[in-house]
Amino acid sequence: MSDDPKDSPSAAPEPAASSPAPRKPALTAAQRMSRERQQQARRRVLHTILLSGGVMGAALSGWLPLAYAQRQRLRPPGALDEKDFLASCIKCGQCVQVCPVNAIKLADLVDGFGVGAPYIAARDQACDFSCDAVQCILACPTGALTYHKPDFLKPRSGAGLAAKPVLKAKQKDPEPTLNLTERIGVARLTRPESCLALQGKGFKGQARGADFKGRMRYMEVDRWKPIPVADHPYDVPECDLCVRECPVAQAISIETVTLADGRQRRQPVVHEPCVGCGVCEMVCPVEQAAIEVVPREVWRA
Ligand code: SF4
Ligand code: SF4
Ligand code: SF4
Repeated sequence: MSDDPKDSPSAAPEPAASSPAPRKPALTAAQRMSRERQQQARRRVLHTILLSGGVMGAALSGWLPLAYAQRQRLRPPGALDEKDFLASCIKCGQCVQVCPVNAIKLADLVDGFGVGAPYIAARDQACDFSCDAVQCILACPTGALTYHKPDFLKPRSGAGLAAKPVLKAKQKDPEPTLNLTERIGVARLTRPESCLALQGKGFKGQARGADFKGRMRYMEVDRWKPIPVADHPYDVPECDLCVRECPVAQAISIETVTLADGRQRRQPVVHEPCVGCGVCEMVCPVEQAAIEVVPREVWRA
């Protein structure tokens, strides 16, 4: 065997003095994607930690309860008054499960002491009563959503409905009413300046655009199956979407009103049977909606 180390099989070759440093092999597309996913996951964890810390800090400093008390959310039909509702709802999500249009959501961390409590964001997805029988109340195991309040919980003045609401979709049924005794809120024309009817304008197209995910039951399409609002375009000479899609009989109509300067205009007018379901708010085609439901609002003649 030779004494020359170059001849030894175990000896590593000496790098040439002028040869470049070894380069890392290029990452494959799959490796790059996996690395990006890891970075995204780290960012999400960090975001959650910061958010939790912020919420905890706010809660401890007393700011959150204050903010929460000032923030009103639409609760599902039949909800007890806010304090009683939050005390009796066990956040089981049963009401969420039965809703055919997924109108009911569960509040997340940023909602403070109402974490997990069900609510409805009507502009995104209103309760259109396509379940026909207020199924969310039926599903509630604790009475946080109830057809009739117990006697020791007095209804707030104006919160009670004068009569059970008649569901337009059930008008030909032997029993056309909904078993609902208190309203969720009341619709108000909060931005009259943007209402198309008041401007004498019609509307053509998809009420909320092609990407809107909200769904609704259209009687003329299918009595039992809600479809995407985006699949039901309109072409109306005078905008009346809030009126034509309101599921409750005689809750809203387009009326001729006389303005301060004597001019006459058409506008939606909300009536006492309004239950505050939010369908009018969801379908109003202007941004932001001209008509909105005020949560827990009572009827004022
Ligand atoms: S009443 Fe409204 S919120 Fe409740 S299950 Fe029926 S559609 Fe959903
Ligand atoms: S849908 Fe909106 S813009 Fe149209 S009449 Fe009703 S409130 Fe006015
Ligand atoms: S006016 Fe609006 S909130 Fe009131 S019942 Fe009709 S759609 Fe629902």
